[in-house]
Amino acid sequence: MDRTHRALLSDLIRFKTITPSGDDAISYCVRFLEEVGFVCTKMQYGEVTNLYAKLGNHDKNLCFAGHIDVVPPLDGWGTDPFTLTEKDGKLYGRGTNDMKGPLSSCLMAIRDFVTTASSCEFSISVILTSNEEIGGDTGTRQVVEFLEDSGEKITGCVLCESCSQIASGEYVKIGCRGSLDVDLTSHGHQGHVANWKELGNHLHSFVRFLHLFTETPLDEGSEKFSPSSIQLTSVDVGNDVRNVIPQTAAAKLNIRFNDLWSIDDLEAHIRAQTPDNINIVFGRHGYPFIGSRDEFVSFVCSSIEGVTHKAPGIGTNGGNSDALSIREITDVVEVGSLITGAHIVDEFITEEELMKLRSIYLGIINSFQNFC
Ligand SMILES: [Zn+2]
Repeated sequence: MDRTHRALLSDLIRFKTITPSGDDAISYCVRFLEEVGFVCTKMQYGEVTNLYAKLGNHDKNLCFAGHIDVVPPLDGWGTDPFTLTEKDGKLYGRGTNDMKGPLSSCLMAIRDFVTTASSCEFSISVILTSNEEIGGDTGTRQVVEFLEDSGEKITGCVLCESCSQIASGEYVKIGCRGSLDVDLTSHGHQGHVANWKELGNHLHSFVRFLHLFTETPLDEGSEKFSPSSIQLTSVDVGNDVRNVIPQTAAAKLNIRFNDLWSIDDLEAHIRAQTPDNINIVFGRHGYPFIGSRDEFVSFVCSSIEGVTHKAPGIGTNGGNSDALSIREITDVVEVGSLITGAHIVDEFITEEELMKLRSIYLGIINSFQNFC
């Protein structure tokens, strides 16, 4: 990896861009992009800074999108999370995986292209936000609204998000499952444990219900989605007293559901399964979607294969991202680092991954002239 790339990543890691603060880091990216000829439009929404940057003025417009913010490092790090540190062949730092590392590869790929291409008959654009990890209406959503209002068109977008289920750069995420939180509270009778026959012990039936509910498949998956999954994230009784059956017990579940379900049908299905003594509260966090037409997916896949010499994986597994907003204005897919490395203590990426991603993003830019 050349010194410029490493210095770029090192600088990005040094900015403590814990959501939503990212102004300094975005200004830094503006300077980088302006140096290679981009025209940059910064947008401020309270503490959140967003950016739309564009090179050239063609109708065909290949966009790269990403976020500069990171989740807080919390405790347990072996290195300073905000200093890029090389150890045992790995580069450590908060955001190396999600997603300052892939972003550095993307910016370097753009620079590689601009400094070597003799001519270019399309535009390249960049969307950046400092509010992805918490999300909401002030991040990429606002850039999407700005682009809609100004009539600016994007032909297709590659979101450089930490999303790969296989290896960095070798997976194209084409959509996302929906997410539904389900909070359950079981109600029964409180009393002496010795009187269980008279009281009935609702904890037993609650546990049986949770077991059956989580073990019964919701579906077998669809053409572009894997089977929906039900995961318990908490089971709470909060009872320290050994001779009392408590009145209530609670459990939390999260369901990642595919396009065989509407959110209304899924909620109705859950209500129908749940005994009357269990109260349900739902929390809706997004619906399943496919973010791109097949043509753009094929274009990105063949561009990647042109670099790696193997077909990338394609799927919809993984968490929600800004693709949810971007899909409203253009085809969007995600290509980035390995998802299992995101948000962890001692987050890292390797030079090899960074260079592979840089080659892949450059390959996508190089092939774009032949797309549509
Ligand atoms: Zn991310």
